[in-house]
Amino acid sequence: MTDILKFGIGNAKLNKDTAILSLPAGHSCPFAKDCRSCAHRETGKIQDGPHTQFRCYAANTEALFSNVRVGRWNNFEAVKEAKTTLQIAALIDRSLPLRGGKTKLIRFHQSGDFFNQAYFDAWLLVARQNPDLLFYGYTKALPFWVKRLGEIPSNFKLVASRGGTHDHLIEEHGLRSVRVVLSEREAKRKWKLPIDHDDTHVWKYDGDFAIVIHGTQPAGSKAGKAWYKIAKKGKGGYKAKYFAHYTKKGMKSKKVNGKHIHVKPTAGKIVVGGVPFTSKQLEKAVQYKGTKVHA
Ligand code: SF4
Repeated sequence: MTDILKFGIGNAKLNKDTAILSLPAGHSCPFAKDCRSCAHRETGKIQDGPHTQFRCYAANTEALFSNVRVGRWNNFEAVKEAKTTLQIAALIDRSLPLRGGKTKLIRFHQSGDFFNQAYFDAWLLVARQNPDLLFYGYTKALPFWVKRLGEIPSNFKLVASRGGTHDHLIEEHGLRSVRVVLSEREAKRKWKLPIDHDDTHVWKYDGDFAIVIHGTQPAGSKAGKAWYKIAKKGKGGYKAKYFAHYTKKGMKSKKVNGKHIHVKPTAGKIVVGGVPFTSKQLEKAVQYKGTKVHA
């Protein structure tokens, strides 16, 4: 058991001034509905929820990389161990990677969500204690947010992620929201929303916006077809850079479901982020019927 949370620093779409905390996708998201997917803690096998319309990109990453699963579960266990709001806030506060002032933004949850009220309240406390940092992120935990309306510090920017079990609270309380769309065209024509590519719409602006679906999707679903088109056109939000974040130097690039990922063929095996896969296992892990892996 660790008594410190591990934050990531930047990623393919976020700058190095951003520290990011992640919890296990789906397992820590009590209000997820349309996006609900979980990677099994041990095997990484993806399980979609009963209402999944588009698969959680963070669960896809956990399916591929055991080191990512371990890191997120360590964080989750540490927070659950802390229990009370004050204890959780102390844990988060002492874990913040301030790096001598280089960190300016804290994104709570590249993966996962606020899983109980004590944990949500702890983040509010930490934001109040660190007024020089800007805390931001998406959430489907709308009941926790609504309970604290009027108490959210100005350096804590939340956006309600549509597709959860409590979407009715968005209109009821006028919460700012984001919508996942299948194409840029859908965002512009149907919803008249700007598209975010780098999180700036979450922390820099105050309006509603859309993000285009990314990551491998359930085979045969509308989202799967949309992602196939996006990946084919080379317009997927993460592409190779996203996966390169988890891989080691010297690995060769391979194409999986239209995406280049960095893998190292070794006698019939493929190593992704230090994890050995056979071609069949990797195809199963990404769970997309159009996937081809060439070892
Ligand atoms: S709430 Fe976020 S992390 Fe959780 S399952 Fe949905 S998309 Fe994934």
